[in-house]
Amino acid sequence: MIERSAESLALQDQIDKCVHCGFCLPSCPTYMLWGEEMDSPRGRIYLMKAGREGRAQMTDGFVRHFDACLGCMACVTACPSGVQYGPLIETTRGQIDRQHPRPFADRLFRSAIFAVLPYPGRLRVALAPLAMWSSVVSRWSLVVGRRAPDDQRRTTVDQRRTTNDHRPSTIFTRLRAALALAPRVTFSSLFAPAVPERTPAIGERRLTVGLLTGCAQRVMFPQVNAATARVLAAEGCDVVAPAAQGCCGALALHAGRLDEARAFARRAIAAFEQPGVDRIGVNAAGCGSSMKEYGELLADDPAWADRARAFASKVRDASELVDELGPPRATRHPLKLRVAYQDACHLAHAQGIRQAPRDLLASIPGVELLPIAEADVCCGSAGIYNLVEPDTARQLGDRKAGCIAAVNPDVIASANPGCTLQIAAAARRRGEDVRILHPMEILDASIKGGW
Ligand code: SF4
Ligand code: SF4
Repeated sequence: MIERSAESLALQDQIDKCVHCGFCLPSCPTYMLWGEEMDSPRGRIYLMKAGREGRAQMTDGFVRHFDACLGCMACVTACPSGVQYGPLIETTRGQIDRQHPRPFADRLFRSAIFAVLPYPGRLRVALAPLAMWSSVVSRWSLVVGRRAPDDQRRTTVDQRRTTNDHRPSTIFTRLRAALALAPRVTFSSLFAPAVPERTPAIGERRLTVGLLTGCAQRVMFPQVNAATARVLAAEGCDVVAPAAQGCCGALALHAGRLDEARAFARRAIAAFEQPGVDRIGVNAAGCGSSMKEYGELLADDPAWADRARAFASKVRDASELVDELGPPRATRHPLKLRVAYQDACHLAHAQGIRQAPRDLLASIPGVELLPIAEADVCCGSAGIYNLVEPDTARQLGDRKAGCIAAVNPDVIASANPGCTLQIAAAARRRGEDVRILHPMEILDASIKGGW
């Protein structure tokens, strides 16, 4: 039975708000794939209620329906009754984490993820063998004059399971998926210089923005942070990137590891509490959505509740910030590009931000925005989902890559590092060499007048 703690009792209102209308069902990726009520938002809310009332036990089958949920929040967008599914799934996952014994290999895999991903130093060490491999490959290519088939190899091993079977994935499937998803890193990208602690505004200062450099973003996509700082500075912002900042806690929060998420949140708040910081800019959708929730996350902590609310009120996605700044100050030079913009769930559904990134891209002369089918459907990345549920994630990734390929873009714009890795892996499976850039990288290129 699901425990009736003060935390879970506070969610009863959300459960009671559900009127079982089913409007959310067609928007739910797992319902779309399997057509099973208990793998829909309505079914999951029903199970939460049954668990609280003692009518359902926390069996493996019960837990499976919650493990299969992507946490994509498409149901929140679809729900006419305003059910806030986010806290419901996060709390349920927290209770599962505390009460449900998982097999040893499962626990080990999940622990390894949370021991490595949120810590840039450890993540660099974990990715160093890939950087070494990529250095050997490029030297070998120079010697023999051809590309070694590293991507093909990763792709092939990942192509073995293509079923509608949504049983738990084996440790081997998960490891194969992790390898297939791994970014193309080099030693110079892994150890790229950090964004300076202060980047002065060009021209008269409009705002001072604290920039979250993130954990995975900083290690895997340092060029996105550099581009974000340049764009904000060009638009008249002093950019402050405190060296003391760490992970924002998004991965832990979405997995229901609430105490861990709170510890990360406190550290982030302390790092950015500097005089004069007007906004906190974020260029990763999952991080921004979590940081906007800090007020609720730390509401019961008297020492931090007010600080958390003040912090959350300043958080903006980078595209939101550019929009908020008003008329552009920096000249946009033309870029002749056909761009498919991919809506990250934690931007579109969790934060309701759809138009600002599109406007940002459309403000660049020569950019043609291509509408893609199923734009509102999750690509399967979903935090750690593509690592722990690789089979389902892969089906969704393939579906997304197909929708994008149908419009044949020059560039895919993605505002979340997880989506970028997921779509790149899916494109490789299709044998496509796609170019995926963050909207801030595209805007930066336009402001600079070229790549
Ligand atoms: S969060 Fe996404 S996967 Fe989970 S129930 Fe809602 S729509 Fe379905
Ligand atoms: S749309 Fe909202 S109220 Fe209707 S079944 Fe889904 S969660 Fe419940």
